[in-house]
Amino acid sequence: MSLSDEQIERYARHILLPEIGGAGQAKIRAAKVLVVGAGGLGTPVIQYLAAAGVGTIGIIDDDVVDLSNLQRQVIHSTPRLGQPKVESAKAAIADINPDVEVVAFETRLTSDNAKEIISKFDIVADGSDNFATRFLVMDCCYLEKKTLVSGAILRFDGQLSVFKPHQRSDNDCPCYRCLYPEAPPPDMIPTCAEAGVLGALCGAIGSLQAAEILKEITGAGDSLSGSLIIFDGLRTEFRKIKIKPDPKCALCSEQATIKDLSQHL
Ligand code: ZN
Repeated sequence: MSLSDEQIERYARHILLPEIGGAGQAKIRAAKVLVVGAGGLGTPVIQYLAAAGVGTIGIIDDDVVDLSNLQRQVIHSTPRLGQPKVESAKAAIADINPDVEVVAFETRLTSDNAKEIISKFDIVADGSDNFATRFLVMDCCYLEKKTLVSGAILRFDGQLSVFKPHQRSDNDCPCYRCLYPEAPPPDMIPTCAEAGVLGALCGAIGSLQAAEILKEITGAGDSLSGSLIIFDGLRTEFRKIKIKPDPKCALCSEQATIKDLSQHL
């Protein structure tokens, strides 16, 4: 896919990077990325993917823009209060970059629609705010052989990783369930709505998610697959820990018991 003169100017700072160049920018233009949730993490992901010129951005969210969202969900705005988040995101993307095609799904991801939606995209960014959706996204990405770029935030803390067990070559590329075998009981870990979250932290982790997505698309640098980034915002400390495939993983090992999405709602 070749770039027009206007696109060469728009993406000049990417094209200058030897790791991206014109060929990498053309790959970004051809990429299809699904963002699950247009909230605290999803909105900075969407913002940077749109600016970067990702050709197709899918957004799934069934919520409307609420006043309490605006402290961190930067692409939504006061005039768009009450609008569906997918519509607000679509309007924001059109302002940032008219090159981007937006595919909006104003619904919740469920075991009934996950396969059909996720199969249309190359890479999935998880910005969901609950463990039921997180596990559904991971299981479906594994079964559909899609790369998952996962972020999580709470209070002043953030986590980030890339999961692509379908590209495993040796003892690498674990899945989300190798790290977290089961969802915790619903009341064990509070949500951002219950415990709060620093707005700018969403931007930090969401921007890193967008950066890892662009690296996966272009092949620039080292993949984050096999590592987990843990950010402690109060101490301003990043830690990077190695994660390995679990030989007993219920999803991605030879002893896997999860073969479809029937255990999900
Ligand atoms: Zn696994």
